[in-house]
Amino acid sequence: MARFEIFQFPILADNYAVLLHDAATGQTAAIDAADADAIGGALRERGWTLTDIFVTHHHGDHTAGVAALKQQSGATVHGPAADTVPIPALDKPLKGGARFRFSGAAVTVIDAPGHTSGHIVYHLPEDHLAFVGDVLFSLGCGRVIEGTMGEMWTSLDSLRRLPPETIIYCGHEYTLANARFALTVEPGNLALQKRAEEVTHLRAKSMPTLPTTIGAERAANPFLRPESAEIRKMIGMPAATDAEVFAELRERKNRA
Ligand SMILES: [Zn+2]
Repeated sequence: MARFEIFQFPILADNYAVLLHDAATGQTAAIDAADADAIGGALRERGWTLTDIFVTHHHGDHTAGVAALKQQSGATVHGPAADTVPIPALDKPLKGGARFRFSGAAVTVIDAPGHTSGHIVYHLPEDHLAFVGDVLFSLGCGRVIEGTMGEMWTSLDSLRRLPPETIIYCGHEYTLANARFALTVEPGNLALQKRAEEVTHLRAKSMPTLPTTIGAERAANPFLRPESAEIRKMIGMPAATDAEVFAELRERKNRA
């Protein structure tokens, strides 16, 4: 049986809040905390008590509720040690390579700069889970706001090397728009066609397209597939490096 019960729910315009709960120990973590009232309400409905907050990066749509939730619950706040803007009420500053345990489960911190300079990812290898914030989305990736394209590619490359069965929770529901762009750069990819169809059906019913898995994204997400001959042909970069192909895809998506 899985150790954790996971509750994901939409919050703000297109963010997801995620709660990670261990019924055996009663420990509960929120992954990012945009809105203290919404997250507090979800906790009360389930009878869960918040013990930890895992912050991925400093943006307000991931941190605005952190201080209030900590004040209400006494939860321990984990977050990047060195993001551009300090994380509110931070108790446990983390850097890539850091390891700790949450409710008995191993957690490894992965540095993933690019969207913000200090963005981190929480990987729970025994539980096949990763909380990737705004670095990787289904069929897309985060905007490169603070770091360089090269840094963002290195971050995505380290995520795509996680085991394929790793379940990925992301910060936003952007999959439908991502699918439309992805089909323009790799229209012949059958896994992408199938995923785009599935996503269209899910979003027509306002259902989430997340979580996803590393394996599914490796098959369909162009931002994890710069080696694809079709993508390289479509963008006219047959001999470029993976990092250069990634950067061109990201620029095109910015303009899309
Ligand atoms: Zn962000």
